[in-house]
Amino acid sequence: MKKLFITPLKKYSNSDIVDAVVIGTGAGGAPVLARLAKAGLKVIALEAGKFFNPSTEFATDEREQEKIFWQLERLSAGKNPLAFGKNNSGIGVGGSTIHYTAYTPRPQPDDFKIYSEFGKGTNWPIGYYDLEKYYDELEMFLGISGPSPYPWGPVRKSHYPLQPLPLNGAAQLMQRGCVPFNIKTSPAANAALSKAYYQEHIGWRNICTNRGFCQAGCSTGAKASMDVTFIPYAIHFGAEVRAESFVTGFEKNKAGIITAVLYQQNGKEERQLCSHVFLCAGAIETPRLLLMNNLSNSNGMVGKNFMAHVGVQVWGEFEEMVRPNKGIPGGLISEDMHRPKNVDFAGGYILQSIGVMPVTYATQMARSSGFWGDALRNKMKGFNQTAGINMHGECLPDKHNFLELSSEKDEMGLPKPRIHFTNGENESSMAKHGEGIMKQIWQAAGAKNIIVQQRMAHTIGTCRMSDNPIDGVVDINGKSFEVSNLYISDNSIFPGSLSANPALTIMAMALRIADIFLEK
Ligand SMILES: Cc1cc2nc3c(=O)[nH]c(=O)nc-3n(C[C@H](O)[C@H](O)[C@H](O)COP(=O)(O)OP(=O)(O)OC[C@H]3O[C@@H](n4cnc5c(N)ncnc54)[C@H](O)[C@@H]3O)c2cc1C
Ligand code: SF4
Repeated sequence: MKKLFITPLKKYSNSDIVDAVVIGTGAGGAPVLARLAKAGLKVIALEAGKFFNPSTEFATDEREQEKIFWQLERLSAGKNPLAFGKNNSGIGVGGSTIHYTAYTPRPQPDDFKIYSEFGKGTNWPIGYYDLEKYYDELEMFLGISGPSPYPWGPVRKSHYPLQPLPLNGAAQLMQRGCVPFNIKTSPAANAALSKAYYQEHIGWRNICTNRGFCQAGCSTGAKASMDVTFIPYAIHFGAEVRAESFVTGFEKNKAGIITAVLYQQNGKEERQLCSHVFLCAGAIETPRLLLMNNLSNSNGMVGKNFMAHVGVQVWGEFEEMVRPNKGIPGGLISEDMHRPKNVDFAGGYILQSIGVMPVTYATQMARSSGFWGDALRNKMKGFNQTAGINMHGECLPDKHNFLELSSEKDEMGLPKPRIHFTNGENESSMAKHGEGIMKQIWQAAGAKNIIVQQRMAHTIGTCRMSDNPIDGVVDINGKSFEVSNLYISDNSIFPGSLSANPALTIMAMALRIADIFLEK
């Protein structure tokens, strides 16, 4: 059995003025923590959740694993209210990467310039080529398994370090169903290991055992969640990770500079002195913290332009045994719909096969498709012959989609966030297009009893990065326009959603933000 190195955890005192406090240890926080620690800075991560031990605490049991999801209530509003809870974000050292499926495609360069191409949405103030070197670095560091050369997008400077993972049942069926339509498919880039992998200062990580429970936490360390990659790396270089520390506020001096971060630990209020803050709590908790503290919001942009990817899923039942909970769930991809022809929407989408665990599937069938009682029991009898595909499409920012604080309080006594979301014409039209294609693919693959589930995925936007202080919260380097020692690094700063799955780009942005901070 290969082992991760274990470095003793450094401890700072609350009265040490550390160089930086990083709030949140997910895709946006952990890379910042590692970069700053490696540069020799005194850094502490404050993380609301636990520091889990995957080999002893991650069960092959979905109900038990609900502990890795953010369960404090979030209120939903708008014409297409979003489901939170399990389809939401994570809690624990590693954040949402503990439960992500680990699909890690790069966006394509035109994704960042959608307004220039279509006159809709917004251009990013930075582009693909500002992030390219970080994509190269991350794919190597995380040990991404994927095809080389990659069939879509610009020619790359580097190859994936590992061969693609084996295709699960749904991926094989999707491959078969795409052939008659000449839709090109490929094994996906996935941040799970197709071979044991050694990383300096971390040690060996194990090969993926095809257990299929990526969305319930990987017990083997094969999936590159932050807790088995950037976090041990940061700890090796002297970072302290203070788990079960829920940040609620900030202290500022007369000049408006943050001097301390306030947090709850073991029922007590604590206070950590610091010179800089990196807020990396995700696209809901980051704006919630800013709104609660009336911080960095004099232009009223905190919480605005909430986005969620168009994520329609299509399920079918097959003659063959699929066993959808087995094998790597993030298996097959097609980017042929990146810019589909003769359509009435801006942007495009990716098609991806899905693996699914039984409780998740039953819950979706009950909630989204209304199966209940005997009907649900009968549906579940077909579980082992079921396969799914989903689309992952661009969502345009819109001022009517936003997060605000409600007057209701959660168990912590803090205002619950309320998220307003309504699909625009672009999202509705894209969802319809994707639904049609996915149904055809499943029919061609031999599916019966096809079920479509309308769905949006991920939490994006709310603290937009901009080159203009009027319509953004942070500048192009992730620095707050208003509070000179506050930086934001997470899914909240995306000005547009991009059509690629977000985690790789969140990490690339995090490394860029940390590097530019260190240069200064
Ligand atoms: C089921 C599922 C599957 C997914 N699969 C994929 C995939 O295949 N590929 C992909 O690219 N993306 C995927 N995603 C999305 C991806 O996981 C997220 O977009 C990404 O991890 C978000 O990163 P983040 O840094 O913005 O936030 P997070 O990773 O959520 O990190 C935020 C952290 O901040 C902590 N925190 C929040 N508030 C506080 C506070 N007040 N005090 C202290 N700590 C706090 C949280 O506990 C958390 O650890 C998936 C998401 C879901 C729900
Ligand atoms: S399929 Fe692989 S990466 Fe996913 S949980 Fe199982 S071992 Fe981990």
